[in-house]
Amino acid sequence: MAEGMRLMAVHAHPDDESSKGAATTAKYVAEGASVMVVSCTGGERGDILNEKLKDDPHILRDIAQVRRDEMKAAQEVLGCEHTWLGFVDSGLPEGDPLPPLPEGCFALEDLEVTTEALVRVIRTWRPHVMTTYDEKGGYPHPDHIMCHRVAMAAFEAAGDPSRYPHAGEPWQPLKIYYNGGWSKPRLEAIHEAMLAEGLESPYAEWLANWKPRRSGRPTTMIACADYFETRDRALIAHATQVDPDGFWFQVPLEIQKRVWGVEEFEAALSYVPIAEGEDDLFAGLGTPEEADALATRPGLEVVHDGRITEEAEQEAREQAEEESERRARHLHGDSSDTHVDEPEAAADGAPGAVPEAEARTDAETKTETETETEKAEL
Ligand SMILES: [Zn+2]
Repeated sequence: MAEGMRLMAVHAHPDDESSKGAATTAKYVAEGASVMVVSCTGGERGDILNEKLKDDPHILRDIAQVRRDEMKAAQEVLGCEHTWLGFVDSGLPEGDPLPPLPEGCFALEDLEVTTEALVRVIRTWRPHVMTTYDEKGGYPHPDHIMCHRVAMAAFEAAGDPSRYPHAGEPWQPLKIYYNGGWSKPRLEAIHEAMLAEGLESPYAEWLANWKPRRSGRPTTMIACADYFETRDRALIAHATQVDPDGFWFQVPLEIQKRVWGVEEFEAALSYVPIAEGEDDLFAGLGTPEEADALATRPGLEVVHDGRITEEAEQEAREQAEEESERRARHLHGDSSDTHVDEPEAAADGAPGAVPEAEARTDAETKTETETETEKAEL
């Protein structure tokens, strides 16, 4: 079905392509589509997150080369194409106050310069569909937020002959999606399946400290459980970034496949309608020839705009606050108090059954676990 179609996945660092949407990449490659991964930066400032390789002299001598080699290995596992956009990793600033970003890094580049670089790749490779991160970066790394800005700007400019006229013939990719990532329902489903099997869930603390980040909703579910193993092999190819015995590999594949055998995407902008319950990123584009014709047709208009506006975000925040106040009253204490002694609390189940996770959702302080998880998410 996807034979002859072209998907471009725009990512911030080498390894992001293996942790976000990787099973979808492998699935489309297997179905005869072409997938191009674009890495905006070389990942030069990534920490070595695999304890076993922390002091390896070869790695310490030239981390940039090591990450290029790792990316090559991951690309071979996924069967995709790959290109570097050539910008420099900004690193994840840590400390209080946060240190300034390093001079010349991707996040500080002029948006015109980074956009032109990606427009050039789009006009050369001519993707029908693109993916990138949501406006919050999926997780708050400056390179991920910049990756979103660049991908959206390039999506909007690539088909316009008046923009970057020296960067190739206009080509309008027809849809751009955000990678779904870790949603609360996904975490909960896997967490509960682990407990039901009598296994220890690695997600208990993450769930207990869950904080909603934005109000987005997935529009598109790609059934790709058959490619979870490929996804894991690609991720492990980034040996300095991932400990194969670590956090991300504690849930048996069988449980992941059975409980949440999909990757989710959120349609941000599209020149064709997005149907309810969409299950294919190429849906609505017709044959490759039809999609090619559409991508070069003058006067195309966006028919689906799923971007989150400031107002929608504000509304979602207010709803979350109301919900948290309601819960706080319900619990007869502050939001970190899980002690339940009001009879009406029994409506939710047995007294005391209100899970700590829910009661603590609104905790302002970021726990160490979450910080670690975010780091590992690099
Ligand atoms: Zn990253």
